[in-house]
Amino acid sequence: MTVTLPDAGSAAFQTLDAAALLAALPDPVAHLTAGGQVTLNRAAQARMAQTGSGDWTALFQPGSVPTIQDAVQAALRGETRQVTVQVVDTVAPGLLTVASASGGALLHLHVARDPLEVALELMDGLGLGMTVQAPDTRILLVNDAATRILGLTREQLTGRDSMDPEWRAIHPDGTDFPGETHPSMQALRTLQVQREVPMGVYHPQEQDWRWLQVTAIPRRAPGATQAKQVTTVFADITEKQAMQTEMRRRERRYRSLVRATSQIVWDAFPDGDFQPPQADWEAFTGQSPAQYRGVGWLDALHPDDRAHTIADWQRAVRDGDLYSTEHRLRRADGQYVPMQVRAVPVTDERGQLVEWVGTHSDLSAIREAEQALRALNAELEGRVQQRTEDLARVTRFSTLLLTAAGEGIFGLDARGITTFANPAAARMLGYSIERMIGQPQHDLVHHHHEDGAPYPLADCPIHQTLLDGQTRRVERDVMWHAQGHAVPVAYVVTPTHDEQGQTSGAVVMVQDITERIRAQGQLQDLIEDLERSNQDLEQFAYVASHDLQEPLRTIGSYTELLARRYQGQLDPRADQYLHFMQDAVDRMRSLIQDLLGFARLSRADLTLTPTPLGDLMRSVQQNVQGTLDADGSSLTWDTPDQVMGQASLLTQLLTNLVSNGLKFHRPGETAHVQVTSRREGDMIHVQVRDNGIGIPPEYHARIFEIFQRLHRRETYAGNGMGLAICRKITEHHGGRIWLDSSPDQGSTFHLTLPAVPS
Ligand code: ADP
Repeated sequence: MTVTLPDAGSAAFQTLDAAALLAALPDPVAHLTAGGQVTLNRAAQARMAQTGSGDWTALFQPGSVPTIQDAVQAALRGETRQVTVQVVDTVAPGLLTVASASGGALLHLHVARDPLEVALELMDGLGLGMTVQAPDTRILLVNDAATRILGLTREQLTGRDSMDPEWRAIHPDGTDFPGETHPSMQALRTLQVQREVPMGVYHPQEQDWRWLQVTAIPRRAPGATQAKQVTTVFADITEKQAMQTEMRRRERRYRSLVRATSQIVWDAFPDGDFQPPQADWEAFTGQSPAQYRGVGWLDALHPDDRAHTIADWQRAVRDGDLYSTEHRLRRADGQYVPMQVRAVPVTDERGQLVEWVGTHSDLSAIREAEQALRALNAELEGRVQQRTEDLARVTRFSTLLLTAAGEGIFGLDARGITTFANPAAARMLGYSIERMIGQPQHDLVHHHHEDGAPYPLADCPIHQTLLDGQTRRVERDVMWHAQGHAVPVAYVVTPTHDEQGQTSGAVVMVQDITERIRAQGQLQDLIEDLERSNQDLEQFAYVASHDLQEPLRTIGSYTELLARRYQGQLDPRADQYLHFMQDAVDRMRSLIQDLLGFARLSRADLTLTPTPLGDLMRSVQQNVQGTLDADGSSLTWDTPDQVMGQASLLTQLLTNLVSNGLKFHRPGETAHVQVTSRREGDMIHVQVRDNGIGIPPEYHARIFEIFQRLHRRETYAGNGMGLAICRKITEHHGGRIWLDSSPDQGSTFHLTLPAVPS
């Protein structure tokens, strides 16, 4: 038959019924109109039936729906889009193409294959049976190898559970292997992988037992306490068992062979006399009856062995006991052959000794046979071992492949060709596992750098590991998704080795770090935002306080004028109001000055010179002298150190702390403030200690912010700027400020300032 392939625009296609075409497609297709009318093809209807919902969006995970709706809107505007979607009950992502079509949107869904299906096939390729069972152990999926090994068809297997009475299974010792103890049941119950459990299963066609090595892996959703499935992988090891049986059979045969060929049987009179005829003896030694008669047989022995032989023989004859010795016996051809000799006395029914029956066994033959047997055993054992190792390797590999879920894992051979990839790797990069296997990994997913520059193979760390066998960890790189975008990744490359220790390939464990990078970026943005808003705030405080000064000055002047002119001429209440106004203007002036001072403080203007703390303390004392004189409070210091700093600012800093110490004294008590310093590494640690009212711990952080005060102004004067200024001055010097205090225990303010470099 000839097939002509018309192009899409040809007449043949135009006359085709579009509906028939869509109906025939194996992939789900839907047509949506702008008015919300939905038409589904057969494949889509079949999927819908499974969801049990009337809404076509129920086909997708809720997280995918907004993207799809966007794409539909775009299609209604005439754009075609392809989006990756997560389909309900399917692990692998789907590719949804949304195109504009006859006044609506045409949706075509291509679902990548379930990694489980891929695993089933992979196991098949390795000759391993695999089944996937539901939590009630009903078999959901089987691969071809499983049907071969178990001798049952797919239909017979599907739906059967572990408790089915049809199963006949035994342990290696022949005892019954009941369904509730099958590895799959154990795996479901314990949520633990059951590894390499030996199990005999009856093969109905061969009417014989098949020996399996069974590994069962429970699968559960992240966070779930119960398994949602169990995957069972099994290898047929009947052949291995058969080999072991064969080995035992051969051993038995060799033994009987040896017994059959290397024996000389002879007899002797009760007194030990050796008399003809001795057919075996004659045949082996070539001695004539005349030669061996009596003790003539001794001549056929190696001269060195004659003495102990005759001694042993005479002892046995005298005691009527078992005779056993070893000697070299001359064969007819003159060759000496090592022999094991045994003889037993034969008695009649009255217990009377009637004769001796003896045997010579050729030890060389036995030894040779033993050696041959040993060699044979070693060879067979080697083969069994090899096969066992192969099986174990394959099983281990597959267990790893199935269970390592989170990270993408690639196996590469020495040339960098992908030999395996796990479902996570496929998901991360948007390729199917089959598409990646057999491909050079670098060319497929690692061909360019993040900036789009080509990535030469020679520079690739994975390639370098294949060359030098060194493990490498790469914290930041990209791999390329099937849809063309870069996936930021971190990965570890570990070399694999062959028996000779040569690098035979590598395993690459890849982590998608999109989220990590996004979080880092957000943090950085946040820090920048904060810095910006801090600057803005300071700028604002500066401008505001600067501009406030002018009107305040005016209010101040006129209030003073008013007071001077009209004091005493108005009623007493007006005088009091004037007084309040003057007071408020004074407070506002000090507040604005402090604010301005605070805003003006900037790191850039700082000039640091070596400054003795003692000098600073003398200035501080002058500043607070008024307070000291007024209420008898005291200030002492012991500050031998020098700091790197700007004297004017440090004086302000210490004055603020000392005046607070003097100010916040307990009612009825005199304040004592003590300042000390000591060097700690590169910093000078200064402490300002008072015996005042103390500060509850919950306010320790807050009091360093501007305008934060813990008391009413009537109780303790102040504007809440002092400590904010202290903190800014300290931090500009590269130091830190903090405090120890609790109510009624006094307070100690600590600060660190840079020491003068020695
Ligand atoms: P203020 O101008 O009110 O003193 P500060 O910023 O210097 O402003 O201090 C903020 C608040 O911290 C004060 O109002 C006070 O409640 C508390 N405080 C500061 N120093 C001390 C101290 N030595 N003892 C007790 N409380 C203090």
